[in-house]
Amino acid sequence: MYLYGLEFYMTFKDLGLAEPILKALQDEGYTKPTPIQEQAIPILLKRKDLLGVAQTGTGKTAAFGIPILHHLYEGISLSQNKRKVKALVVTPTRELAIQIGDSFTAYGRYTGLKSTVIFGGVKQGKQVNALKAGVDIIIATPGRLLDLMNQGYISFRDLDYVVLDEADQMLDMGFIHDIKKIIAKLPPKRQSLFFSATMPKSIVELSRKMLGEFERVTIKPEQATAEKVEQGVYFVSKSNKPKLLVHLLEKRPEDSVLVFSRTKHGANKIVKKLAQADIKSAAIHGNKSQTARQKALGAFKDGTLKVLVATDIAARGIDVDDLALVINFDLPNVSETYVHRIGRTGRANASGIAMSFCMAEERAYLKDIEKLIKQQVPRLGDHPYMDEASEQEPQPRKPNNRSSSRNQNQNRNRNRNRNRNSNKNRGRNDSNSSN
Ligand code: AMP
Repeated sequence: MYLYGLEFYMTFKDLGLAEPILKALQDEGYTKPTPIQEQAIPILLKRKDLLGVAQTGTGKTAAFGIPILHHLYEGISLSQNKRKVKALVVTPTRELAIQIGDSFTAYGRYTGLKSTVIFGGVKQGKQVNALKAGVDIIIATPGRLLDLMNQGYISFRDLDYVVLDEADQMLDMGFIHDIKKIIAKLPPKRQSLFFSATMPKSIVELSRKMLGEFERVTIKPEQATAEKVEQGVYFVSKSNKPKLLVHLLEKRPEDSVLVFSRTKHGANKIVKKLAQADIKSAAIHGNKSQTARQKALGAFKDGTLKVLVATDIAARGIDVDDLALVINFDLPNVSETYVHRIGRTGRANASGIAMSFCMAEERAYLKDIEKLIKQQVPRLGDHPYMDEASEQEPQPRKPNNRSSSRNQNQNRNRNRNRNRNSNKNRGRNDSNSSN
């Protein structure tokens, strides 16, 4: 906002938040609200329902966490000796639940409020004990939450706030029935928040069921990505992808790099190939145990592991402050997923780099992605593993005449020569292609 030629921006103080929360935000180093926070916090402080169309990486957690903490803090009654669950956040993955739990702990550290995280894949004892001791806020994945509700460990009689986070992902993961059962057990008088990165018809229907009169905030993916993340694509054949990955990683040994694979099997294969080149990495995906996933993620977050290979679902919860580079080893066949992936870097107000590998069969995916983000992903040009499959952009098909097939043959020969040369000169002529 400009006034008399000077730039003014909204601060957290302008939003009228309680002192202990402002102090915690200062500790976190947040100087100004992100766009989703600027728009959503005032709506939520007015106790309205909210439909947020936004992806992770926009500051979404604080956008819903801060107003909930503010309200709960303002309503704290000192005479209350046992805490009652007043806020529930439901989110698709364990990683995301843990991360949201950490955010609530951080933003609420001076409020005296207590939160706990509930997810499956581990024994329930610790979680049950935490519930018995009393909590104000529960952050949970749907399956275990429903399980503990059915066992009678959780009462939502005093619930005031419910947040459904990453709704599209929950539907993709088959949680729809669990979600409906959970919502059916919540008191009708409550403030409801619904977040989804995409809004297909099924999500619109679900949001209608859950929300009363609501306001909508949309943070467009292209705002979140195009402006902040430097993107680029390499055309490369399937068999050369691992070599190109090794080559790029060797050039940035100090950087934290998140590599995306479309499949679990593919992720394991990438880790193996990297190990053969003496590059340490770990994979996280649905077939890995909870402990293995947490261990890999912990090492990646504290910087001891530089390369993490993830599938889309496992990566949803990843939030690493200094993530320098995202590499799409495979291009996703759903364009929105690309936006999610590259949003892992360039978090909140930072910037980042995302590189994609595109083989011939993935060119249609690239086209769809470019349509969605309304821009062309810059071509990164030559690399040491060029071959005929990798180099040429598909040309519009011409009628089958002799001269065009002659051109194709000439091109093919040129590519072959170039491939031979570039392999010979590896390390010399590629230095500007991947920076
Ligand atoms: P989220 O979209 O909630 O996953 O948040 C993405 C990242 O942005 C997290 O690392 C947050 O700690 C960070 N973040 C959230 N709000 C702000 C802010 N106002 N200023 C700076 N960083 C923020």
